[in-house]
Amino acid sequence: PGTSSFLIVANRLPVDRVGEDMWRRSPGGLVTAIAPVLQRREGAWIGWHGAPDERLDPFEHDGMHLIPVPLSEQEVELYYEGFSNATLWPLYHDVVATPVYSRALWDAYRLVNERFARAAAEAAAPDAVVWVQDYQLQLVPAMLRRLRPDVRIGFFLHIPFPPGELFQQLPWRRELLEGLLGADLVGFQRPGGAANFIRLCRKTLGLQYQKHEIYVEDRVVRAEAFPISVDFGELDVLVREPHIVARAQEIRRDLGNPEHVLLGVDRLDYTKGIGQRLKAFGELLADGSIKPGEAVFVQIATPSRERVEEYIRLRDSIELQVGRINGEQGELGQQPVQYLHQSYDRDELAALYLAADVMVVTPLRDGMNLVAKEYISCRHDLRGALVLSEFAGAAEELKQAFMVNPYDVDGLKRTMLTAMRATPHDLSRRMRSLRRRVATYDVDRWAQDFLAALEA
Ligand code: UDP
Repeated sequence: PGTSSFLIVANRLPVDRVGEDMWRRSPGGLVTAIAPVLQRREGAWIGWHGAPDERLDPFEHDGMHLIPVPLSEQEVELYYEGFSNATLWPLYHDVVATPVYSRALWDAYRLVNERFARAAAEAAAPDAVVWVQDYQLQLVPAMLRRLRPDVRIGFFLHIPFPPGELFQQLPWRRELLEGLLGADLVGFQRPGGAANFIRLCRKTLGLQYQKHEIYVEDRVVRAEAFPISVDFGELDVLVREPHIVARAQEIRRDLGNPEHVLLGVDRLDYTKGIGQRLKAFGELLADGSIKPGEAVFVQIATPSRERVEEYIRLRDSIELQVGRINGEQGELGQQPVQYLHQSYDRDELAALYLAADVMVVTPLRDGMNLVAKEYISCRHDLRGALVLSEFAGAAEELKQAFMVNPYDVDGLKRTMLTAMRATPHDLSRRMRSLRRRVATYDVDRWAQDFLAALEA
């Protein structure tokens, strides 16, 4: 079999199955940013294809060479839903839910990581560049280095990297750090994540470091921040198309043409602070700060990880909360919260962003939050207010947003009101500056910066 000089290794392949042998490119910035690089360099993408207990041969899609890695039903449960999403996900998000520490989950994680590393070792040409993505595959860099010392390895963590006080809980903390240190470059969303990692390497493994460089035996590993972004240009063009503009108007009409449309767009995840923002909105209605019919809150909550315990509980609690607010504050034919437990495509999201006066992004912790950057990319009209949690990675760059601490209900209420009442002049001043930032640091720039640093 042929080998490639450029490889992406990620939990999932960048395609979704739409029929027997039919695939569609998955939505999202990562694929958009990386696909051209793959095509230019005749690269390949290694990842799971999404169907448990099924083996597939490598195939071509959209000019990309795709190499499927099989996962059994039980591995999906233990490696993906288990160690990745019930252990690492809550641990890395400030323990906002309690992480599960289980040796059976860890064993599966190690085993699956080994399989990905072997697939990469087989597919890599001599001196290839291999870019490993995200928390599901943190052991791959070291495993791959052992098999293929000639290749150059980059790793990017899309979620936060936690402070040492929390990371130290992990029974396998040494193994995870050593796994990451197999890379030549470890990228994080924020400088704080890189600093947490470097300090942990010193404390846990006793390694020496200087600034961004960690000394590992005879090698140097760089740890640095590369904030990910969105395809600003694509959204900026899309949102001017007549069918999107018309759909945005239709959405406002369907909502009863309220004075203020507030919007939340999230996977239904306990890190997103959906309950906090609904509580604030409910109280604003209850205490008369918002008159009935004056404002509608549209909350898109995309189904996510539906077999993981915490997510089942979260769904119940959010749906109870929505029911209470609508029951207590609604009127016949008028529900202040429009809750949709569904997934939407790009066009519909763009229309929603355009229709929303206030975008409410209140995660308790988030690696970046692309929704915030997508909203900005869509608001070429310089209207619209972004309410943004200071605990989102995006907060570091998007200083002109209306910043909130989502745990502070009164502060959240105040800020939502301020955003609703802001003058057009204030809004356009903020949005212009936000757009300048996202336009300059788009997802293309992110990929270029990372690869340039990896190959330097
Ligand atoms: N998204 C989508 N359809 C939906 C809801 C969200 O395509 O119904 C997309 C959204 O446009 C964004 C991504 O999912 O690109 C969510 O990324 P983000 O960083 O905000 O959060 P994550 O889900 O990665 O934690």
